[in-house]
Amino acid sequence: MTGLVRARTVDEAIEALADGEGHALAGGQAMTILMKEGFVDAARLVDISGVGELRGITRHPGHVDVGAMSTHVTVARDSTLAASIPGLADAFSSIGNVRIRAAGTLGGNLAHADPRQDPPTALVLLDAAAHVRGASGPRSIAVADLIDGALSTTLDADELITSVRIPVLGEHEWFGFSKFLAGSSEGFATANLALRVSWTPDGTIERADMCVGAVGPLPQRVQLASTVRFDDRARSTIADDVAIAVAEAVEPTGGHQSGSDYTRALCGELARDLYCRFVDGAQGRRAA
Ligand SMILES: Cc1cc2nc3c(=O)[nH]c(=O)nc-3n(C[C@H](O)[C@H](O)[C@H](O)COP(=O)(O)OP(=O)(O)OC[C@H]3O[C@@H](n4cnc5c(N)ncnc54)[C@H](O)[C@@H]3O)c2cc1C
Repeated sequence: MTGLVRARTVDEAIEALADGEGHALAGGQAMTILMKEGFVDAARLVDISGVGELRGITRHPGHVDVGAMSTHVTVARDSTLAASIPGLADAFSSIGNVRIRAAGTLGGNLAHADPRQDPPTALVLLDAAAHVRGASGPRSIAVADLIDGALSTTLDADELITSVRIPVLGEHEWFGFSKFLAGSSEGFATANLALRVSWTPDGTIERADMCVGAVGPLPQRVQLASTVRFDDRARSTIADDVAIAVAEAVEPTGGHQSGSDYTRALCGELARDLYCRFVDGAQGRRAA
């Protein structure tokens, strides 16, 4: 293909991408930079912003489907998502600046696979899956398997992410997200973290997992319940154990200028804060 194709349907977009030479253009936030730097040929773009099928957020039993063209601000403000997966909005409302959030899309974010991004960390921990369509038909890929390296995905050249399926949280579950910015509040995170905890009806924690992003090419999952005892010790004592477990488990690569020891310590402190937020936020629900 050559020239700009303005697709009206997913099928039209897939057809235009079929020769493997073109690139989907969604919100253009990453593409503009890639074109300016000469990594992408501006004469081989398939504009998918007019494809209605890629929009909309729909609740189903057990999950919510989020259209790939949903912007970050749409996801952050959606009431269905807020009711079904409380805490997820924090991973979208803190992205970049208002311009990035208004134009950048969920599908573009996942397909771009920049390791510094926020949604992948949250979506890996939530066991979300991308719905994908290409010339050979539709398929579903766990977000954890979709991104396989820095700026690299398992998508074929003619495949589009059409939506992302996010399981809703259970009655006895809590989810939270947090990020640390060393520089400008509009920049990428030095580290981001998500925490997901589930407990039995009597309040006993049975599962506590964290996911750490922006410190290596892929989001890193840490299963806390295998190393931390969530018993009746003081909140601060368990929070110390959580901080140590995360600092020891995380494997920083690429390196912040202050080194991997700094990154480990930072992740530990973010984990401590997030755990305390969980204890305070879920206290009433766990005791009920
Ligand atoms: C200054 C700045 C600050 C930023 N800060 C943050 C931040 O704090 N946190 C964060 O998470 N992100 C941040 N970002 C990244 C931003 O969120 C992503 O660039 C954006 O989400 C990409 O989405 P887009 O719709 O603009 O994609 P585009 O730029 O249009 O496309 C990006 C890539 O995805 C492909 N693509 C797009 N849609 C699809 C689809 N549906 N199916 C298959 N492939 C597709 C394109 O072909 C291209 O390869 C920042 C970006 C900038 C420029």
